[in-house]
Amino acid sequence: MRDLNRHLELCSINTATLGHQWPLDRTLDAIARAGYGGVAPWRREVEAAGVGAAARQLRALGLRVSGYCRSTYLTAPTAAAFKAGVAENRAAIDQAAELGAACFIVVHGGLVAGSKDIAGARAQGAEAIALLWEHAKRCGVALAIEPLHPMYAADRCLVVTLEQGLDLCAAIDPENSGGLGIAVDVYHCWWDPRLAEMIARGGALRRILAFHVSDWLVPTRDMLLDRGMMGDGVIEIAKIRGMLEDAGYAGKVEVEIFSRDDWWRRDVVETLAVCAARLQSVC
Ligand code: ZN
Repeated sequence: MRDLNRHLELCSINTATLGHQWPLDRTLDAIARAGYGGVAPWRREVEAAGVGAAARQLRALGLRVSGYCRSTYLTAPTAAAFKAGVAENRAAIDQAAELGAACFIVVHGGLVAGSKDIAGARAQGAEAIALLWEHAKRCGVALAIEPLHPMYAADRCLVVTLEQGLDLCAAIDPENSGGLGIAVDVYHCWWDPRLAEMIARGGALRRILAFHVSDWLVPTRDMLLDRGMMGDGVIEIAKIRGMLEDAGYAGKVEVEIFSRDDWWRRDVVETLAVCAARLQSVC
């Protein structure tokens, strides 16, 4: 297992952790100045900064994009909306290529509003991922399907376990020809009785493309926006990182904390310092 102590170059900050308080250029400068080796920016802030300008700044700062956030939801109410969604996500993959991103994060989407057709929604997701993967391969971008916690199944993501994510990869790319895998986020999968088994399976196939850390607070006050700082909750983060690295994961350790009422209200530089301290002491 890698030693993160004094190795922040192995670590990355998802800009959502900082509450999107600053424009991207200022955020990137602060992340680099704090010593991190990576960043996961969101599409809207990259587009506001200009993709070319963001790519140049990342190169100048020596920051690697651990993941580009993220696809729009793949499920759609009509064929036209589905097609438009795929086109929009292809454009985002082009941006990921320009940014040199390690992967493009794919979030499946939930049920179509007003529908109960879970099988149909999952079929749409699989079709969209297959289409996007073809485009991503041509661009040299890897797609990381991110399974989310099952509490988000209805409205955000019908891929809810690592096993389901890996099965989806296997269905789309049975040859394991590369460029298609999953993102392992401790917040979404820490509870899974098959976690160790699925990390080993994903690692053996070289399908673990990203690793996100935060913590599960007890009690959790908001399903979406009350993630904890590493060390403040109940997730065995270091143990899970050990499983990933034993399975061959060598990418960044990315901090991704959605915390509307706590960390998003704090000073960006303070949050970066606390993340650094916790990465090196509890992750
Ligand atoms: Zn994540």
